[in-house]
Amino acid sequence: MGGPRRLAVNKQGHVLNGVLLAVGLGYVLEPAGDIATFRTIAATLVPVTLGALFPDVDTAFGKHRKTLHNLPVLFVFLAYPIYFGNLQYVWVGVLTHYVLDVVGSTRGIALFYPLSSSEFGFPTGVTTSSTYANLVTIIITVLELAVVAVFVHVVPGVTETIIGAFPFDPASGTNVFQ
Ligand SMILES: [Zn+2]
Repeated sequence: MGGPRRLAVNKQGHVLNGVLLAVGLGYVLEPAGDIATFRTIAATLVPVTLGALFPDVDTAFGKHRKTLHNLPVLFVFLAYPIYFGNLQYVWVGVLTHYVLDVVGSTRGIALFYPLSSSEFGFPTGVTTSSTYANLVTIIITVLELAVVAVFVHVVPGVTETIIGAFPFDPASGTNVFQ
C-alpha cells in the first residue's frame, strides 16, 4: 500500500499488549493479589515489553514481518532461559507480538522465514492506524490471558507435559517459566 515505513508498525499497540499481559500474568500466576502477585508483575513487565517490541526491529534490519517475525527467532528466545538461564519471559513478549500481528492486523507474518517468505495472517484484524487498534489489542490480550489461565489452572498437567517435552533437564531447576 506504500506510505512511509514508519507507519507500518504499531509500537504503541505492542507496548500496550506487553504491559497488560505482564499485569495479567501476575494475577493469573499468583491470583491472591498479594506481594507474590506484584513480584510476578515486576519480574515480567520489562522482559515481556522488550520482547513485544523486538520483532519490529526488522523495519530497520532485514525484511519487515519476515526477518524477526518467524518461529526460528521465537525458538532462539525460548532457548536462552532453558540453556543459559537468562532472558526469562522475553519469549512471551515475542510470542504475543506474533499473535497480535497475525490476529489483530490486516497483514500476516512469515512464520517459516527464511524457508518460506509466505506471510500467514487471519482474515481478522484492523490496520495498525485504525482508531480501533487499541481496542483490538486489549481484546486479544484478554483472550491470551484466558488461554494462559486455562493452561495454568484448568489443565496444569498439560503444561508440565509440554515443558517436559523440551530437550533439557528439569532437575537443573531452569525452565522457561523461571
Ligand atoms: Zn510486527
